[in-house]
Amino acid sequence: MEPSSVTTLSTGVPFRPALRTRAYSVTIKGSFGKVRLPRALLEPIHKSRALVQDDASHRGHSPLSPSFADRSRLLRLWAVTELLPEFPYHPDPVATGVIVPSGTVCICCGRERGYVYKGPVYAADELAYRLCPWCIADGGAAERFDAHFTAGTCLGDDVALEVFAAVDQRTPGFTAWQEPQWFFHCADGAAFLGPVGSAELAVYPEVLEMLRREANGWGWPSEQVEYFLASLDKDGEATAYLFRCRVCAAHLAYTDFA
Ligand SMILES: [Zn+2]
Ligand SMILES: [Zn+2]
Repeated sequence: MEPSSVTTLSTGVPFRPALRTRAYSVTIKGSFGKVRLPRALLEPIHKSRALVQDDASHRGHSPLSPSFADRSRLLRLWAVTELLPEFPYHPDPVATGVIVPSGTVCICCGRERGYVYKGPVYAADELAYRLCPWCIADGGAAERFDAHFTAGTCLGDDVALEVFAAVDQRTPGFTAWQEPQWFFHCADGAAFLGPVGSAELAVYPEVLEMLRREANGWGWPSEQVEYFLASLDKDGEATAYLFRCRVCAAHLAYTDFA
C-alpha cells in the first residue's frame, strides 16, 4: 500500500496507514479489558489537513514510521476491542472459553470480527470454529445453517418454545463430557455461568445439596457420593455445570464425567 493512500476501517473512519510513531498511547476499554493502542494507530482519526500535507512531503521516509507488520498487529488489537454482543443466557462466553480471540473469517457474515465461537454446533454443515459471536447473537447462523447450540436436552421447568429457541438458536453453547444440558427455571432459560468443581462450589451449599440429591438418585452409597462431590473439578474428569436463574437468582447445577 502506498504511504499516502487512504483506506477505511470497518468503523467507517478514514485512515491513512503511513504514520509516524509518537511516544504516547491511548487506552481503549473493550470487552476484553484495557488495550493500550499507540497513538500512531489512532492519529488518522484526528489528523488535520496540515498534517496530511506534511506527511505527503515526507512520503513515509520518517525513520520512526511503524512497520506494516506493526500496523497489522495494532489493527488486530483494534478489531479485538469491538464490543461483543450480549448473551443473556450465557453472560460471559469468553470467560467460559467458548468464544476466543481469532483472526478467523466468519462463514456466515464473511467478516473477520476478532473472535470465533469454539463451542458445540449442531448443524448439517461443519461449523466448528467458523462462526463469529455476532452471527450467533442475531440468529443469522441459526437461520442460514439451521444451526443449534444446545443438544436439545433441558433440565428444570418446561418453557415456551420461543424461550427455548432463544437459548438453542441465539446463545453460545458449552462443552461438557456428555451432551450438554441447559437449565430452565421460572419459565425462563437460566444463565450459564461455567464449569465448576468442588472448590468453586464451596460457596454454593445449596447447589452442593442439589448435586448430592442427584447422585443419591443414582443409588450410590453415601461415601461414594461424598467422594464424587469432593472430586468435582472444573478441568477434571468429573465436572459440574453452574447456572443462575434469571428470575429468582437461584443457582442450579448438574454434573457429568468422562
Ligand atoms: Zn459472522
Ligand atoms: Zn427461578
